[in-house]
Amino acid sequence: MSLLILIAFIVILFFIFKKIWAKPKWQIPKGTVPMEWRAILVKNISFYSRLNFKKKALFEYKVQEFLLNHKITGIKTDVSLTDELLIASSAIIPIFSFPEWKYSNLFEILVYPDTFNEDFKFEGEDRKILGMVGTGFMQGKMILSKKAIRKGFANESDKKNTAIHEFVHLIDKLDGQTDGVPELLLEKQYVIPWLELIGSKIDDIYEGKTDINPYGGTNKQEFFAVTSEYFFEKPKLLAKKHPELHALLEQIFDQDFEILAPSNSRTQKEPGRNQPCYCGSGKKYKHCHLK
Ligand SMILES: [Zn+2]
Repeated sequence: MSLLILIAFIVILFFIFKKIWAKPKWQIPKGTVPMEWRAILVKNISFYSRLNFKKKALFEYKVQEFLLNHKITGIKTDVSLTDELLIASSAIIPIFSFPEWKYSNLFEILVYPDTFNEDFKFEGEDRKILGMVGTGFMQGKMILSKKAIRKGFANESDKKNTAIHEFVHLIDKLDGQTDGVPELLLEKQYVIPWLELIGSKIDDIYEGKTDINPYGGTNKQEFFAVTSEYFFEKPKLLAKKHPELHALLEQIFDQDFEILAPSNSRTQKEPGRNQPCYCGSGKKYKHCHLK
């Protein structure tokens, strides 16, 4: 009898540990996003607004997938649907050309009401940090200031977007090192030109003869994150002022003017009511995304 109890005990323990240690299953979106989401995306994310119908559907899918698989927690602040969609969009924009991409190094995003300091305090003096990718006991977590997330999308002319900046750090980190060289995205032959360019551009920052955010002069990884913000907010200006840098960032993110600044974005044609929907569902447009 006691042997039976022991076996039962072991079996129960096995299932408990399995549940604790098992990786959560990757969730796949089912169905399209609600109309409310689309309205928020159109209003706030100019990157999304510029996409054609087919790419919009892909963007919506990726945003939905991101939100299904990453926890977002407000710390002493509420997180609205808009905040969630802004965060997910910041994650998707840099890797939009890589539909298979997964942020396997991220489990949770903590949203703080405002800036915070190195002890993660968001009240009192010395709060300068807008966002960060966690290390050590904060491994797998990202902290973002709610104010900074919103400001990043409200103003594109400042070439700053905190949430995109932090996701670029995560992309940089995924190859094992946060070193300004995103080895998963940058082909080997471009690594040396990229490092040489970073060196000369950081020199320009020190000499005060550039419009790149001086914070990019901190080190290679900050240079990569800061210039990525510039790339996604003001691609045309970057191409004009820093053609070489623009060309290498285009290589890294595999995104060009067609996505970032298409000249005919407003003229892209909507399918007819009875034509197949752009999302590839096989349904008529009127029964699918037109609704
Ligand atoms: Zn940074």
